[in-house]
Amino acid sequence: MANLQFYQFPCRDDNYGVLVHDSQSGLCASIDAPDEGAVLAALDETGWQLSHILVTHWHFDHVEGIPGLKARFQCHVVGSAHEAEKIKELDKTVGDGDEFQFGSDRVRVISTPGHTLGMLNFYFVDSKTLFTGDTLFALGCGRIFEGDGAMMWNSMQKLAELPRETAVYCGHEYTLANGRFALGVDPENGKLQARMEVIEALRKADKPTLPTTIGEELDTNPFMRAGNRAIRENLGMADASDEDVFTEIRARKDSS
Ligand code: ZN
Ligand code: FE
Repeated sequence: MANLQFYQFPCRDDNYGVLVHDSQSGLCASIDAPDEGAVLAALDETGWQLSHILVTHWHFDHVEGIPGLKARFQCHVVGSAHEAEKIKELDKTVGDGDEFQFGSDRVRVISTPGHTLGMLNFYFVDSKTLFTGDTLFALGCGRIFEGDGAMMWNSMQKLAELPRETAVYCGHEYTLANGRFALGVDPENGKLQARMEVIEALRKADKPTLPTTIGEELDTNPFMRAGNRAIRENLGMADASDEDVFTEIRARKDSS
């Protein structure tokens, strides 16, 4: 039985960092390194000793802190084989389906091309906890910078297969804006309406809306619900493919 602790902290404009600590082995991983100072403050707060950085993708707001942290802690940096040329500090490259041990838990790598082609998610199997970087957000998904709509929809489907109770941590606090958009696409969804009330209250109190769960996203996130009849009819796409419905929702969000 894994015994992991998770410590989430806001940083930069709207990013989240998370530390994952295994109390048995003392290992501590930073999920991405958005900001060196913020990660250092989180380590200070928790008293944990940084041993790993697990990198979801190469974008600046996820890797900027790596060089400084690596120099300071000689931590082991794990990231995408497809992005090794862009992330110079990788000690170990991984790809879809790879697994490695992290203290008392096992980490499965799930690749979700679309936001970037080498984009990785880290799934802590025993803890049923997923780190999606900029693939799946609460009530949203990342912009498609390097792939296309069909590719990103397939990526979302891979995450949808995980257990509903899986806890999901994402790279950004975008939930309120995502939810307002979601209500426009899926206005009759009672679970979405109820969730938005909770989200508005959390944000008003300056509290994070994350982690979320796979089940909550399946019920309320339009980017996971391209097959939903009400959404399709609302978009005038009752007979379109799921990929096309997803791509249309993404395009509308991009121009909203
Ligand atoms: Zn990104
Ligand atoms: Fe980002």
